Amino acid sequence: MKKVVQLRPSRSGEASSPDADSRRVVLLGATGSIGRSTVEIINGANGAFSVAAVAGGSDAKALAAVAIELGAEFAALADPSGYADLKAALSGTAIEAAAGPEAVIEAALRPADIVVGAIAGAAGVAPTFAALAAGRIIALANKECLVCAGPAFMRQAAASGTRLLPVDSEHNAIFQAMGDAELSSVEMITLTASGGPFRTWSVEAIAAATPEQALAHPNWSMGPKVTIDSAGLMNKGLEVIEAHYLFGIETARLDVLVHAQSVVHGLVAFSDGSVSAGLAAPDMKVPIAHCLSHPRRLVTKARRLDLAAIGQLTFERPDFNRFPALRVALDALRAGRGLPTVLNAANEIAVEAFLKRRISFHEIAKIVEQACEAALSDGVAREPETIDEALAIDFAVRERTRARLPGTAAAS
Ligand code: NAD
Ligand code: MG
Repeated sequence: MKKVVQLRPSRSGEASSPDADSRRVVLLGATGSIGRSTVEIINGANGAFSVAAVAGGSDAKALAAVAIELGAEFAALADPSGYADLKAALSGTAIEAAAGPEAVIEAALRPADIVVGAIAGAAGVAPTFAALAAGRIIALANKECLVCAGPAFMRQAAASGTRLLPVDSEHNAIFQAMGDAELSSVEMITLTASGGPFRTWSVEAIAAATPEQALAHPNWSMGPKVTIDSAGLMNKGLEVIEAHYLFGIETARLDVLVHAQSVVHGLVAFSDGSVSAGLAAPDMKVPIAHCLSHPRRLVTKARRLDLAAIGQLTFERPDFNRFPALRVALDALRAGRGLPTVLNAANEIAVEAFLKRRISFHEIAKIVEQACEAALSDGVAREPETIDEALAIDFAVRERTRARLPGTAAAS
């Protein structure tokens, strides 16, 4: 296993300089929302980090810009057709350019102390898993990795002698609140949900919501997929599944509360009646910074929490009637047999179809539920033991869900 370079404070008390013990980072998903926040943390950390590689999906110019900004050694674009643009944008620099899915894996495997997994969706499974198998510490934002292939990821982390540090704000808060407590002393883990833009809307209004309305999240600025997931509370369902694998805790000890202010991100209730909570302003730079320098603390410019200005914190039970996606996700976790993998794949297709205005908002949960029922009845759903098995289920469910979308031949 690769040695973790500890961040050493310099004599001035600032983070260390690059030529001292800087921590080498690979940033997967560098051009996205989490990617950009990670860049801000790295740039503000006084040389505490150096960047071995960055990877992105299809925007060659944006990837080149971030590679140059970070002084990365290697830039990998998933879309092979963007290679010429990437190469041109990096000409005159010493940054190596490559494109295609195997280039993203190569980026993931560049020698580093920590790999930030911030690709959106199951596209992140293969590169993030490759980094884990190579013994890297993973700062994991890409929750779909665990929803698609949780058992394989957790087994690999143990086999590699490394760990997954949670960037997702709820899991990061829970991780911090848990401290080194024994899991047997944990009575309940609670993830909070902001409730998204439709928190107070009627069933009918939610059903007819447009992509613009669903993308208008009140508290967080995020990529499109996770924003749509948040609007229907599917995101919270994915996060409960993520927490189940990450913390190795059964579904009965996982709970969800709607908390509109997004200040308390997660709570851990212990067997003696104590409750620890993780609080922070809703700014992803907080958990990113925590993971990047763990177990040390960085000094950051992330938003500070002003509780007096917020005044009130409110909590309510989620309404499964208005937010059926949460129920569908929790049912999939309880059913097991690979249903989280099925759920994740069908959801990605449904969200994409909603964003392209091919289906209405309330059809997202319906399509996902139907995909889960179909996979149970025809045997597609089975517990994936390996990454390859998980990706095979993912592929089959995507194909089938796509073919059954309204307006496609097989749908009628
Ligand atoms: P985003 O859409 O803004 O960014 C996704 C990034 O992945 C982009 O850089 C894109 O180019 C890249 N990408 C896509 N396909 C790729 C591929 N095949 N290979 C390499 N790169 C690829 O998404 P985001 O909001 O930054 O979210 C990223 C992940 O973090 C998601 O799994 C999301 O659920 C999770 N997350 C995000 C937030 C947030 O605040 N944005 C919070 C918690 C968790
Ligand atoms: Mg979250």
